Parts: sequence; structure tokens; C-alpha cells
Amino acid sequence: MKKYRLPLIMLCVFEGLAIGLWLGTGNFFYLFNFTYIGGCIAFGLFLFIRKISFARRFIQLAVGLYMLVYLGIICRENMQIEGFWYYLFSGVFEAAVIHYAAAKIFGPLLFGRGWCGYACWTAMVLDMLPFKRRGGERRNIGFIRYIMFAFSLILVCALFLIKPLGLSDIMFYIFIAGNAAYYIAEIILAFAFKDNRAFCKYICPVTVFLKPMSYFSLIRIKCDEEKCTGCGKCRKVCPMDVEVNNNSRRRENATECILCQECVKACPVRALK
Ligand code: SF4
Ligand code: SF4
Ligand code: SF4
Repeated sequence: MKKYRLPLIMLCVFEGLAIGLWLGTGNFFYLFNFTYIGGCIAFGLFLFIRKISFARRFIQLAVGLYMLVYLGIICRENMQIEGFWYYLFSGVFEAAVIHYAAAKIFGPLLFGRGWCGYACWTAMVLDMLPFKRRGGERRNIGFIRYIMFAFSLILVCALFLIKPLGLSDIMFYIFIAGNAAYYIAEIILAFAFKDNRAFCKYICPVTVFLKPMSYFSLIRIKCDEEKCTGCGKCRKVCPMDVEVNNNSRRRENATECILCQECVKACPVRALK
């Protein structure tokens, strides 16, 4: 059973959240929502351990499509960062606020950027593009994420000040337009930089939360530096340019790791786990 510890932990964490929020708010939706997400993650991790090749893809599609299509389009919840500000400023502890707290602000203390590797509906499309390994040197344009972050905050503040009629409808259209813009930008960037994850590295505003919190992540890829022969195969396959053969938390691009496990699979001496 030891090797199934991670899926069991994730199942327990999400089920605890599901039951806690259900009992705390009296809203049955939370029981369904977090049981579904936790169940998909746990089952996907189980498939991963069984070495099923589509395991990560399964979680990406099961969770990503659920959040984009069901929560976002059918239930009209803005699950993007603008939605987070919107519900936060409205004093409503639900929808995007809970999603951000669980997946992007406090969750990364436990599972780092697992959200980015396994559940993000933006990356669900990015990972279908042809440039799975980086095409060249990293660009010095990561500051764009802070501009995007500030823009999302200013946009929602402005809407609260203007108080237009039908603000919740406007937030829904912002969600649709924002996602369309993200998908267009990420595809253009991926082809321009020959790097599927260029959008994640330079543009995504959510990384302003994700990066500092994942620095402290309990779950991380560790390197047994005594076993490592320095062959560099792990770094060649890493989509996020992490210096994973250095065990320090301060390794290069340490807060970019999406826990995809490609490095672990590539290491010939099993120095990574
Ligand atoms: S960096 Fe942003 S776009 Fe990329 S996977 Fe993470 S949340 Fe999604
Ligand atoms: S290849 Fe390894 S170091 Fe790179 S993102 Fe995936 S798990 Fe992290
Ligand atoms: S693939 Fe393994 S042995 Fe090679 S550099 Fe990476 S950790 Fe070291």
C-alpha cells in the first residue's frame, strides 16, 4: 500500500475539504465538487503509479474540463483571477475564492504547482501543442506576469467603483473573453518560442501566488545527489527548466516545477523521486 500513499493522501485532503465545507456552509455542492475533483486526482495518481501513460492527461481533462465547461460556462462562475478578486471584494467565500485558496494559494504549501501539472484548463490545451521541451534559452520577460496581475486587480476594482448594472453578467463575459484571449496568446507564444509552457513561464498572473507558496512545498522532486551522475537527461526533458539535479530549494527555477515527473522517468539511475 505504501506506493499508493500519495493518491490516498490527496483523496483524504479533498474529502476533508468537501465534508468540512459542506457542513460549514450547508451547501451540498461543495461535497459533490471536492469529492469529484479529489476522486479524479486520486484515480489519476493511481493510474500514474500503475505506469499508465495517459494518467496525467486523464486528470487534466477530467478536472480542467469540469472547471472550464461546467463551473465556468454552464454555472457561469468566473473561475479566473478576476473572479477571485470579484468574489473576494464581494465578501463571498465561495466559487473562485475557495478554488484559489485550495489550489493556488494555500494548497501549494502541500502540493506545490500540482495544479499547473495536473488540473489547469489552460495547460490542458498547452500540453497538446508540439513543443514539449523548451526550444531555447529562457527569456527575461517574466515581469509580464506582474503587469497581468495588476491589470486583473485594477479591472475588478474599476468595476466595483463604476458599479455597472448586471455586474455578475459582466464577470461571466470577462471569463469567456479572458479565456479566449489566454488560449490565443498561449498558442502564439508556444509557436513563437517553440515552448508549450511559455505562457506559464512569462505571462500567467496566477504564478504571482503560485511561485512563492510552492517554494515551501512539502511535496517536491528530490534528488539523491550521491546517486546522480550529472548526465543532464532530467534537465533536457523538463518543460519548466528546473535545475532538478540540484536538491536545494533554491535550485534554478525551483518554483516552476509542475510535478509532471518527466525527469523522474528520464533518470537512468533513479536519483530522482
Ligand atoms: S502557470 Fe498559469 S496557465 Fe500555466 S498551468 Fe499554472 S495556472 Fe495554468
Ligand atoms: S520534469 Fe521534473 S523538475 Fe521539471 S517540471 Fe516536471 S517534475 Fe518538475
Ligand atoms: S538524469 Fe538522473 S543522473 Fe542524470 S543528471 Fe538528472 S538526476 Fe542526475
